Amino acid sequence: MTTPRQIRIFDTTLRDGEQSPGCSMNMAEKMEIAQALVDMGVDIIEAGFPIASPGDFEAVRAIADNVSGAVICGLARSNDSDIDRAWEALQNAAQPRIHVFLATSAIHREFKLKMDKDEIIRRAIAGVSRAASYCSDIEFSPEDASRTEVDFLCRVVEAAIKAGATTVNIPDTVGYATPAHMGSVIRALRERVPNMDKAVLSVHCHNDLGLAVANSLAAVENGAGQIECTINGIGERAGNCSLEEVVMALRTRHDVYQVATGIVTQRLVPASRLVSNITGMHVQRNKAIVGRNAFAHEAGIHQDGMLKERTTYEIMRPEDVGLTKADLVLGKHSGRAALADRAKALGYHLSTEQLQTVFEQFKDLADKKKEVYDADIAALIELEMRDAPETWTIANYRLLAETGQAPTVTLTLRRGSDEFTEEVSAGDGPFDAMFRAVERITGIEVVCKDFNVHSVTVGKDALAEVTVEAEHGGDIYRGRGVSTDSVEASVQAFLNAINHVVAHLERSATHSVAPKVVGNV
Ligand SMILES: [Zn+2]
Repeated sequence: MTTPRQIRIFDTTLRDGEQSPGCSMNMAEKMEIAQALVDMGVDIIEAGFPIASPGDFEAVRAIADNVSGAVICGLARSNDSDIDRAWEALQNAAQPRIHVFLATSAIHREFKLKMDKDEIIRRAIAGVSRAASYCSDIEFSPEDASRTEVDFLCRVVEAAIKAGATTVNIPDTVGYATPAHMGSVIRALRERVPNMDKAVLSVHCHNDLGLAVANSLAAVENGAGQIECTINGIGERAGNCSLEEVVMALRTRHDVYQVATGIVTQRLVPASRLVSNITGMHVQRNKAIVGRNAFAHEAGIHQDGMLKERTTYEIMRPEDVGLTKADLVLGKHSGRAALADRAKALGYHLSTEQLQTVFEQFKDLADKKKEVYDADIAALIELEMRDAPETWTIANYRLLAETGQAPTVTLTLRRGSDEFTEEVSAGDGPFDAMFRAVERITGIEVVCKDFNVHSVTVGKDALAEVTVEAEHGGDIYRGRGVSTDSVEASVQAFLNAINHVVAHLERSATHSVAPKVVGNV
């Protein structure tokens, strides 16, 4: 038996995923995800786009300095300042990679860059050479490659490899390719670029037509050695190739692809839940591999078949993707070690202080509800990882709601040691009235764009998790609240969003905040 060809898994959840609307993460959250990716066996982690903003830079640097066990990659446009900044962030990584991109398609050359073909080649060579002067692991991406003339694409790729690129990534930036199309581009590069054997050929597919996974698989069939993807498929617009789907397709249909990845598939579901908890972007129930219904058999005839022989209807085993049959339940007598154990199994790495805070909250919760499930623990940890300073907190509320009457709310908020109370008798319902009271006290008015209540686990005493998206000054702020009392969770979430606004206003008062640059690979 020959060893199967190894496909590298390049995860861009922290770069392409993070830049999609509503998915921004703070530093602590990015560190958690980076660590979970290492635990899962990802080969390369794209940690961010260092020049995009000071926050992006700090996050890439923190991951490069502290996370080992995978190549840590930073994105840069093909110019000196981007590449220098990327290296500044990456320099302490055990295995750094600089990822340089430059658009190559006719439409981008003409309208965006206003450069001719020769100028593009010169720019690509200059960028790759500069990156190669810093480290030996260089990835080059011709942006919008799938819409670039194949002859020209071959010229650019050959030049980039000659200049020092060790990986060449072919992005379907706009999600336009089909499997046959993507396969033919990869095959053409393998057949026509004379030095193609000196670099790994990679693929980066977007899901605008729902084809990102299929296109990535077609690329592998035609010789690609690296797949760029994200957990839960998050990313620009319709998202990126979903890591869990492409990995399980390669594994389940090994008979077709005959390749291997280094992914520990039992970590797929925990990683999916971690990213979903952190971003607040819920996974649809019928999502392949990680959706709640992905392994649920409802039809009687299926259930009957399953009881007789699982493989009649089951192509993958739930335990292979990390779906445990039942949550391990903790209760009020569970100790700190048991909690630490569950947190670790869920993919979190808590410091001693964090563990202590979460443990205290866990004890409070276990007093209110008998059984504490994994999702409850994840919700508590997520609260602990919030970054906005808790400028405003809830002191007390009274709520009177009656059919056909305007609700009355008396709300007291605390700021430092001061308390402020407002009474509101207006609004379409109790939540609306509560939010109006918050706005009056804090003096910050927002437009509520999204308001979502969902129960974290089962049963009447389940924790309610509320997520709020609020718009202020053209920016979107996310807030989250968790409590066994859904009204309290809602006010917490709304207040959390308001606290983000306050933090932002204070920051912009002290230094000017430049608009964030977006990387379009
Ligand atoms: Zn992308």
